[in-house]
Amino acid sequence: VNSSGGKDQRPWLACLDLEGVLVPEIWINVAERTGIEELRLTTRDVADYDQLMRHRFRVLDEHGLRLGDITDVIATMEPYPGAVEFLDWLRHHHQVIILSDTFAEFAVPLMRQLGYPAIFCHNLVVEGDRLVDYRLRLPEQKLASVKAFDGLGFATLAMGDSYNDTAMLLGATAGVLYRPPPRVVEEFPALPVAQDYDEARRIIAGLERRVLQ
Ligand SMILES: [Mg+2]
Repeated sequence: VNSSGGKDQRPWLACLDLEGVLVPEIWINVAERTGIEELRLTTRDVADYDQLMRHRFRVLDEHGLRLGDITDVIATMEPYPGAVEFLDWLRHHHQVIILSDTFAEFAVPLMRQLGYPAIFCHNLVVEGDRLVDYRLRLPEQKLASVKAFDGLGFATLAMGDSYNDTAMLLGATAGVLYRPPPRVVEEFPALPVAQDYDEARRIIAGLERRVLQ
């Protein structure tokens, strides 16, 4: 607690998850739009992330799908209604960085629609447009990022929807769950929950008054 009544006086940086917060789940949409059911599996079905990614590469190969085919599919996706306006609102007031576990190669068509905000994510290894591997820039990069921003003198406001966000949400100066699955709400009762962008704006405005500068 300091003389300002416990407020964090540092400039703050908003750290947003991408999928489930601003845009729909990319792999689920690729599965739907290509009609390949085997691509529907997520980390909820296969706990081992590396195993899941190998499965995805194998399935894409079996169907002869290349990176260009997948980005064509992703280009038909749109941000959630209101996402662009919400992001603009946030960027008008604060610096914003998107922290995502997706791949830069997949994110491009969606970033275009979001006005190219800063994004930290991972990369695919592509050979002749064929997906052969992936490269995590850093394990646990979301949590590592909010910790690093703290070291750079920022207070952080993080918002995400699922298990891969909870370490970041708890490690940030303030964390908000956005339309999370009910199980996540039960497991992390300390985190405020926003069910739509208006609610997120209200929660963020409240945090600005009470916690952040
Ligand atoms: Mg997400």
